[in-house]
Amino acid sequence: MTRQRRGIELTEADGASVSDGPVSITTFGALVRYRHRLSGMCRECDTCRTFDAASRPADVVFVGRTFRCKDCGSRMEISLSPPAWERRD
Ligand SMILES: [Zn+2]
Repeated sequence: MTRQRRGIELTEADGASVSDGPVSITTFGALVRYRHRLSGMCRECDTCRTFDAASRPADVVFVGRTFRCKDCGSRMEISLSPPAWERRD
């Protein structure tokens, strides 16, 4: 009798490829846990902002959500950054 292994569940979201790297990060809580930074790029303002994941509910999934620029209201392109090597706090 063979059973499917269900050790790790990877989540893939439409239109968002934020799961590069060894871990799949989909929630604000995971961002904090793995010390990744979520940043948004607004092409209209040509600016990049870092979201404070620690201030959001940990179980909220950010993948697939729309982030809008607070200045112009345009949709921001989000991206994940792995922990910076120089930061060890
Ligand atoms: Zn903007």
